[in-house]
Amino acid sequence: MDINDYDVKNILKLISEDVQKYVGRGSVASYIPLLAKANPKSFALTLIDKNMEIHTVGDDCTEFSIQSVSKVFTLTMALNLVDEEVWGRMDREPSGKAFDSLVHLEEHNGIPANPFVNSGAIVLADILITALGDQAVPEFLKFMRKVSGNPELKINQEVYQCEKDTGFKNYSFGHYIKSYGNIENDVDLVLDAYFQFCSLDITNIDLCRSFYFLMNQGVSILGERVTTHRHCKRINSIMFTCGTYDEVGEFAYTVGLPVKSGVSGAIGGCLPDQYAVSVWSPELNKKGNSFLGHKALEALTTMLDKSYLS
Ligand code: GLU
Repeated sequence: MDINDYDVKNILKLISEDVQKYVGRGSVASYIPLLAKANPKSFALTLIDKNMEIHTVGDDCTEFSIQSVSKVFTLTMALNLVDEEVWGRMDREPSGKAFDSLVHLEEHNGIPANPFVNSGAIVLADILITALGDQAVPEFLKFMRKVSGNPELKINQEVYQCEKDTGFKNYSFGHYIKSYGNIENDVDLVLDAYFQFCSLDITNIDLCRSFYFLMNQGVSILGERVTTHRHCKRINSIMFTCGTYDEVGEFAYTVGLPVKSGVSGAIGGCLPDQYAVSVWSPELNKKGNSFLGHKALEALTTMLDKSYLS
């Protein structure tokens, strides 16, 4: 199968119409109060094929905060900077617990289950601060502008402040991990960076463009090498096994792509060597994944008849 054998634009259109029946079945995240303001009916679905052709439907130019999808990019930066040392600080196993659960940390002496749960991403932020000092956030912004090809990307200051004011569980992760010696820097500094990473504003098209390098063996949509093929292979594997909270089994079965989701309702991912894909719809299912986003990706891999493993 080759993506060019399909009328992708029409497939996306059919999917976007079909998933409308699920509007109202999920609920918009509200534990970060600003997220509750999202329009529950928003929906965008974008696919960029390996020839860089962009197929897109819906509210694809509306900005939302990237939230946990940022963890894919901070992991890439950390692997570029310290390579395998990352795995001395966290595991790469699905946690089987909610993204904000403390239980795993207690059982594993402050070693997060994987880089895509909050505790793991907080340790990633610590790794970036140790390596880059006060340039960690500017370098993240630079990285995101590079992978998306959009030099205008910026941190949403209101979301950042809101996360800072209400991220009590994230502060407890930071202090708890520090008590085991697995945070090297000041906890407030680390959380400050983590919240800014989550607060990057992005559109669905730019999110899709940002995943292009993971489809394309490490080379971005602008033709720049972002990371090695070896890292891409591994990041994709971790997305496949840990990218959708404690619903990874269901996603592997129904969607079958390496993807990462976030509480703003975004999901980004790829089919290596074929296409990058992103979907955004703010209503979440009970596991915290976009309700319509999940259904749309399931329909996409069904209609294109190809997934990660076969
Ligand atoms: N900023 C959110 C938090 O730390 C990200 C959660 C998510 O998208 O999974 O709670």
